[in-house]
Amino acid sequence: MVEANHDDCIFCRIARGELGTPFVAESEQAVAFRDLHPQAPTHILIVPKRHLGALRDLGPEDAALAFDLLRMASDVARQEGLLDGGYRVITNDGQDAGQTVHHLHFHLLGGKRLHEPLG
Ligand code: 5GP
Ligand code: ZN
Repeated sequence: MVEANHDDCIFCRIARGELGTPFVAESEQAVAFRDLHPQAPTHILIVPKRHLGALRDLGPEDAALAFDLLRMASDVARQEGLLDGGYRVITNDGQDAGQTVHHLHFHLLGGKRLHEPLG
């Protein structure tokens, strides 16, 4: 089966390297790159290379991918020197969460005291 190309998806394009966005980490299944509008001194997006719309689209067959994404978040946190101060990993799924890019991603935030309420 040929996978859809998702030409109109910005994170698919970034993950394919089409926009020249530098990766802070890359694995077989995922990439990490800096958010365009950082909300903290370190604000990095952890993104699967394969198009998934949101967390709801992650299935039982994606167990290895789920581990890869979360492991990449902590690896990048370590790489960015965030382990002592701590960090936050979040994902927005759907309208009420304010999801704006409909390709699954985890935000890794750190480098300051994260006072903002989660809800
Ligand atoms: P969401 O609101 O969907 O959880 O997060 C989308 C995030 O993607 C936002 O924080 C936004 O700043 C970031 N973003 C949107 N377009 C681009 C882009 O072209 N490049 C990068 N690096 N980040 C982007
Ligand atoms: Zn996509």
